Amino acid sequence: MRLLIVEDEPALALRLQQALEAAGFVVDVAYDGEEGWHLGDTEPYDAIVLDLGLPKIDGVSVLQRWREAGKTTPVLILTARGRWSEKMAGFNAGADDYMTKPFEIQEVVYRLRALIRRASGHAQPELVCGPLRLDTNAARVTLDGAPVPLTAQEFRILSYLIHHPGRVVSRTELMEHVYDRHFDSDSNVLEVLLGRIRRKVGGGLIQTVRGQGYKLAAQEQA
Ligand code: CA
Repeated sequence: MRLLIVEDEPALALRLQQALEAAGFVVDVAYDGEEGWHLGDTEPYDAIVLDLGLPKIDGVSVLQRWREAGKTTPVLILTARGRWSEKMAGFNAGADDYMTKPFEIQEVVYRLRALIRRASGHAQPELVCGPLRLDTNAARVTLDGAPVPLTAQEFRILSYLIHHPGRVVSRTELMEHVYDRHFDSDSNVLEVLLGRIRRKVGGGLIQTVRGQGYKLAAQEQA
């Protein structure tokens, strides 16, 4: 899962980035409203953390522009502006959640996980796909109850597929959701990683659909 942080305070942006990366996400950071708007407009993020007081374009305007352009990405506003009228303006612009500074960083992580689950149609914090289970809050995958040891990259790939079971996920889509924008895309890397994941979870669960991409079996397996 890939996130965008739009935050003009470098120390806070770094702290958020580190916490979110430690929680299993890949993260892009924008330091002003213009860059943030552009990235959110052109890159397929799974969720966005948006400050309101930003240079160049303020956060509410950035959010309005995304929503007017039809972007449905979940947006969590994280701001010092705590008045009810300010919160209302944020929700009216299309925010999905709103937190005020100072904040508990793990609360940001949990709220983002819930927003991402909801956006892909899941209500439970544990996603089940046959013998595979992803505990989204613990960022842990089990196979028939036994923990599956995964590297950070392998976890992001498998997590994305488990959030979107039963449909073909193209190679491009998968790359865009598990790497940041500075990654030099090379689909051979993805093939190698998928090979490693298959060895850990069993070959039959992740199918390759020739010329289209990958599909995680959606049905409950006996
Ligand atoms: Ca700010």
